[in-house]
Amino acid sequence: MADKNWIGAFENAFPAEALQRDCPMAACTTLRLGGPADLLAEPATEEELLRMLALAGERSVPVTVIGRGSNLLVRDGGIRGLVIRIGRRMKGIETDGTSLTAMAGTTLTELAHHAAVSGLAGLAFASGIPGTVGGGVLMNAGAYGGEMCQVTSWAEGVRPDGSRFRYSRDELGFGYRHSRLQDEDGIVTRAGFTLREGDRAQIEAEMADLNARRSEKQPLQQPSAGSTFKRPEGYFAAALIDQCGLKGMRVGGAAVSEKHAGFLVNLGGTAADFEELMRRVRDIVEEKCGVCLEPEIRILGEA
Ligand SMILES: Cc1cc2nc3c(=O)[nH]c(=O)nc-3n(C[C@H](O)[C@H](O)[C@H](O)COP(=O)(O)OP(=O)(O)OC[C@H]3O[C@@H](n4cnc5c(N)ncnc54)[C@H](O)[C@@H]3O)c2cc1C
Repeated sequence: MADKNWIGAFENAFPAEALQRDCPMAACTTLRLGGPADLLAEPATEEELLRMLALAGERSVPVTVIGRGSNLLVRDGGIRGLVIRIGRRMKGIETDGTSLTAMAGTTLTELAHHAAVSGLAGLAFASGIPGTVGGGVLMNAGAYGGEMCQVTSWAEGVRPDGSRFRYSRDELGFGYRHSRLQDEDGIVTRAGFTLREGDRAQIEAEMADLNARRSEKQPLQQPSAGSTFKRPEGYFAAALIDQCGLKGMRVGGAAVSEKHAGFLVNLGGTAADFEELMRRVRDIVEEKCGVCLEPEIRILGEA
């Protein structure tokens, strides 16, 4: 159990701009859902992150890590303990020949644009994925035939116990929307990418084309966390959901998008609505198609 004054201890130890008490998680997620986190902390450096983890450890405070919140459903009761956001305060990109090193809070869009401007090919697929480098590597995010595992050469960071890691691509154990970091709660602080020389105009044209395809097919004007379910082997989740006639299905303010059945969207409901809609979609698809959909989004917090 966390001791009562743990928030005060954080406020004494870290600058005010790094902390926010009772932070509504709806403001930290693209789904715009979720109750408050007791304390949101945003480290600017790995050193600061380590100090936050140490203080949380000393006070027995549970720790949750988030990036841009673009793959998260946070429940209505919010998150007890400390939420560490690796985001705006931990950004930056360095170029060395065809290699890039990025801080984990850099967005994938920023990384892909930096690569394009530097005439480096390989990251165009990531330009429309609204997450961070850290979340992207942990999730092995991918689109249009590209995946983070194809370009990531290493990732480093810290574990909740304060130990440091640096894993090569092979050691990262990438799979479909999976990396070893998910199994050991590794917090990414920096990652390295190996790209190829390319033509800036051509890379920018490719990114523009992929992003036009994305806005034509996906409900980008409505709050979502992207594809709600993973692609089951041999099928597409969106096609199965569509086949069951579920486009437009609603639970309260949560709905299956009319535009793309793989996206469940928030039209002004609660996280409970959204989770119930996920359950109903999963049950109907299982009953009618015999395929069990697994969530791609990660569910956090208390009901
Ligand atoms: C409109 C839309 C379109 C999308 N399209 C795609 C797509 O084409 N392909 C795709 O793969 N995904 C897509 N997504 C989902 C999402 O953008 C990706 O999963 C992204 O990689 C999540 O990054 P994030 O920083 O937002 O992580 P979050 O959602 O904040 O967190 C996701 C997971 O990563 C962990 N995490 C975050 N940062 C770190 C870190 N620094 N170290 C360790 N763990 C961390 C969290 O603990 C959590 O488990 C889409 C989402 C939206 C809203």
